[in-house]
Amino acid sequence: MSYSLTIIGSASGQPVPDRAHASLALHRPGEIHLLDAGEGACSALLRWGLDPLAVKSIFITHTHPDHCVGIFMILQYMHMKEHPGPVIIYLPESAITPFQTILNQFYLVPDQINTEYLLLPLNHRHELNDTWLLETFPTQHLKTWEELRIPGVGAQAYAFRVSSSEHSLFYSGDISDFGDIAKAVNKDDLLILEGAHIDVDKVLNWALKTGLRRLVLTHILPGSVSVDAIKISSAQVRGLEILVAQDGMTLSF
Ligand SMILES: [Zn+2]
Repeated sequence: MSYSLTIIGSASGQPVPDRAHASLALHRPGEIHLLDAGEGACSALLRWGLDPLAVKSIFITHTHPDHCVGIFMILQYMHMKEHPGPVIIYLPESAITPFQTILNQFYLVPDQINTEYLLLPLNHRHELNDTWLLETFPTQHLKTWEELRIPGVGAQAYAFRVSSSEHSLFYSGDISDFGDIAKAVNKDDLLILEGAHIDVDKVLNWALKTGLRRLVLTHILPGSVSVDAIKISSAQVRGLEILVAQDGMTLSF
C-alpha cells in the first residue's frame, strides 16, 4: 500500500501569516507519522483534513521551535479528545530530559493525562510499520552550538529517509549546507529540501549529475530565494520535476 505525503507546514523559521511551521505528514487511512511538528502542526492537520488522533509517531529532526513546538498542542488535543494513544515521540537524545520537563510544566504529565505518550531517542533506523523504514542521518545544522558547549544544550540535528522496497522520500530537516546530505540522497528519492541554508545552483548542479527526478523546496525564508529563478534554473535540469512547497500540498510516492 502506498502512502501519501502532505506538507502541513512549509514556513521557514520566520513566522508568516499564511503558513504553519515545518511539518510533513506521512499518511494512509487511520495512520499518520509526522516528520517534524513545528508551531501550528495540530491545527494544520485539521485544516488539511487529517485527524490528529491518527498520529502514531512524531520524528523531530532537531529542537529549533519551528520544528518541534507543535508537539504540545497535538498532545493537548489528544488529551481533550480522551484519546488513549499511545503516541511515540522520537527526539535527539539530548533533548529528552528537557522536553519532559517542559511537558510537565505544560501539565502534560505522563499518567495524569488521558493520552499515553513516550519520548524516545532517535536511533539509526526505525520501522514505522510492516512496510516503511525510517533512517536518520546526522547533519551539521547545529555545529556552532556544539562548539559553544553550553551545559544542557545539545547540538544534534538529523535528516530522514523513509523508504519501502519500492519508494523513498528524503527530508533534509535543516542543514548547514547541501554538502551535509549530498552523499546520503539517492537519485530515486523524492527530495524535500529546506531552502533556508542552500545555494540553489549548487543543488541543481548536483541534481543534474545524479539524475534526481523529484525535488520539493520548502522552509524558504521570505525573500531569500526567488521562486522564478529556481524555475528558470530548473528548466536546465532535464527530467527534474521541481516544486515549491505550499501548505496542504499532497504528494504520492
Ligand atoms: Zn533549525
